[in-house]
This record gives sequence, C-alpha cells and structure tokens, in this order.
Amino acid sequence: MLTLKYYPYDLKFSEVFAVSSNARTSTEVIYVELGYEGKIGYGEASFPPYMKERRDDNLVYLSQLNLSGFTSPFQMDEIYAYMDSLSSENTPAKASVDMALYDLMGKVSGLPVNKLLGLESKKTIYTSFTIGIGEDDFILRQLNKAKQFKTIKVKLAGDILYNKHAIEFIQNNSAQAIGVDFNGGLPNKEIALNMIQWLAAKNILYIEQPLPVSLEKDYIFLKAESPLDIFGDESMQNVKDMIYKHELFDGVNIKLMKCGGISKAYQMASIAPSLGLKTMLGCMAEGSCAVTAAANLASMFDKVDLDGHLMMANDKFEGVEIVNGELKLCQLKLTGIEKQ
Ligand code: MG
Repeated sequence: MLTLKYYPYDLKFSEVFAVSSNARTSTEVIYVELGYEGKIGYGEASFPPYMKERRDDNLVYLSQLNLSGFTSPFQMDEIYAYMDSLSSENTPAKASVDMALYDLMGKVSGLPVNKLLGLESKKTIYTSFTIGIGEDDFILRQLNKAKQFKTIKVKLAGDILYNKHAIEFIQNNSAQAIGVDFNGGLPNKEIALNMIQWLAAKNILYIEQPLPVSLEKDYIFLKAESPLDIFGDESMQNVKDMIYKHELFDGVNIKLMKCGGISKAYQMASIAPSLGLKTMLGCMAEGSCAVTAAANLASMFDKVDLDGHLMMANDKFEGVEIVNGELKLCQLKLTGIEKQ
C-alpha cells in the first residue's frame, strides 16, 4: 500500500532574486513523502509567481488524493491517470507525486532513477548558473559564485540601458559564455529584434522568452529574423503547448513543474527533436529535491540549467552535486538541516 504525506515549506533565497516581472526573498514549496514497504520517496512542488498554480490550491488537491488503493509505486501510469481524473490542473502537485514515485521505484529496486528511465550516467553534463537582475555589486558577488560554471544565464528585462550595461559589465569581469533570459520582458518585436541583434554582436549564445505570452504571434517574425536561437519557456508549459507552438521557437525549456514531473518531461524531451526543437532542461527557484529529480533526465538534453537549489539558504535536502560546473547525479537525501 502507498501512503502519502505532505507539508508546506518556505525556501529562503540567500540574496533577493529578481527577474523582469518580480523580485523575491523566499519561494513557496510543498514537500511530499510517499511511503511503501518501509521506504520513503520524496517529491517537491514549487510555485513561481508566473505560473497560475497556487500552493493553497495544490495543498487542497493533495488532500483529495487517496493512493491507498494502489499496491506498488510501479503502477506509475495508473496513478498518473487517477491524478488526472481528479483535476486537469494542479501540475506542481502532480509533479511532486511523480518524482516521489520515481524516487521510491529507485529505492525499492536498488537502481538509480536515470537507469530506470533507460538513460546513461557516464556522459559529462555541464549546467549553467543563473544571475538575476541587480546592481553591479550584486552581479560581482554572483560572478564570484559562478566561477566554476562554463555558461552563465543572465536575466534581463525591458530596460534596454540596463540590459546593455549588465552584459558589458559581465563581459568585462568574466570570460564565461552567456545565455540570456528575458522572462517575456521586452515590449514588442521591433525592440526585441534590435536587442537580439546587439546581443548577437556580443557573442551571446541564445535568447530565452524575449516577448511575453500575450505577444506570441510575433515570435514567427522574431524567429525568422533573429541571428540567435530563441527558446520558449513561459510559452511552452507542457507537451500540448510544445506541439501547438513548435513553429514559434528554435528550442524549448522543459521544467518538471510546468509539465507535471519526470514522466512528462521525458515525453517532451523525446518528442522535441522531431518537431525541430532544441532542448533545455530547466528548473524553478526550488530546492535540491526537485532539482535532483530533474537531473536524472539531463543526458537527454542539449542544454542543462539546473541551479535553482544553489540560491537557497534553507534547503532541507541534499542530492545532485555540481563539481567544476559538471552535474553529478547523487542519491537524494533528506537532511532536515537548514543550511545557512
Ligand atoms: Mg526562463
């Protein structure tokens, strides 16, 4: 029999985390514990402001889940169908149960989760490090933290002067390769194209979500004119979005919290190349529990951006490690110790 426990938790950022639409000092998560034959599988649901999902609704949804009728975590497909039958929403809660099921399947079988997915673990995988929006002294502190990473992802906004200053300032202080994420912060396609052309001249690697979801139709123009690959993130939440909108983007940023967990992200990453999309594995600002779950999929992806847990001051879990910018898959552990 499977037992389900869950509780809310607030993850605190080590430093204020600002993107084009908001700035935060903490972020809400839910931790899930699935019990089976004396073992516990862990999962995490996180709630970034731009997603419609709210923690209170997802706590109510989890309170309605009754998994006692299932006899094994290997009934993954049946359990997911049951979760979908109760609600078409609550994607983060479903993702947390999905990743707890995989953690449990790994513990019951004695196999690492990436092996259960048929994925290799020997390939060397580098992750990027994200730098939020801030003053020069903040950026310098972040660059200091980012030294071991080969690639930096820089958050930019609608303020063109800030954007140009931030990129030039970073390039004056670091030789690392740079990708740029606007989180939909640019106001229109003409300004976006000018900005992207300027960034291309600065040898930026790629652009993520320059225009908001409300201006999605303009991505046809932007994709045709842009000298750099454009990845969809806010516009590409799940497999349906990816299929319907694949002509708007050169690539897709896939995240467990948007699509509903490891099984759904695996499905998206399997389909994306046949739609002509490059793939990036991303995460939210979230803890090691969710980031470790995502890391099991890393060998499927062209780019990996799994650094959300590095921003947290009170992560209760240990899992994936990053050594010289390289992602090392490790067993997830609940330490319960709030790191400072
Ligand atoms: Mg993004």
